[in-house]
Amino acid sequence: MNFWQQHQSDNIGKILLDENTIQQRVSELAKEITEDYVRMGADELVTVGILRGSVLFLSDLIRRIELPVDLDFMAVSSYGGSTTSSGEVRIMKDLSHRIQGRHVLIVEDIVDTGRTLQFLKNLLGTRQPASLKICTLLDKPSRRLVDMEADYVGFEVPDEFVVGYGLDFDDAWRQLPYIGVLKPEAYGK
Ligand code: 5GP
Repeated sequence: MNFWQQHQSDNIGKILLDENTIQQRVSELAKEITEDYVRMGADELVTVGILRGSVLFLSDLIRRIELPVDLDFMAVSSYGGSTTSSGEVRIMKDLSHRIQGRHVLIVEDIVDTGRTLQFLKNLLGTRQPASLKICTLLDKPSRRLVDMEADYVGFEVPDEFVVGYGLDFDDAWRQLPYIGVLKPEAYGK
């Protein structure tokens, strides 16, 4: 085992979704999204990636969407500890492009309490897009505190703190091609 393989086996307790499973589902989502927007008469789509957790998912997803895509980003921060999110959401980076009259798809890594997406949906809704939908890779419905459902969901996951494929713990593990759960002792490091 090289260093990186050893580091993963020391810290990752289990794999919830392996690389093949994720990639197959991303292809299905891209197909569904393409078909829906073509049916809606859209000739382009603005994808709004929420930094930084959505980046791996977003880059795989847009390569499989068969419509012109304008790739934009927002960054938000929610207060609280690293494994919980509090109610308050603050914009750290706003969109670079105008979305009025355009079809907008927010792309998120995970919906947990739902507060981040509720905030973003309300905010972007005031800018009068032609349509506004949400696509999330993961959904933890058991943790929901506000009424918020994504239009496209990759996978439902149990109430466990997950890392990989964009999701971090303490700024690490985003690069994993799979989604896993850290060993309990890894959270203390
Ligand atoms: P919400 O506003 O829905 O409570 O929070 C969503 C954000 O919380 C996600 O974008 C993500 O940054 C973070 N989050 C929630 N659950 C998890 C998790 O299991 N793992 C990681 N790495 N982040 C999570």
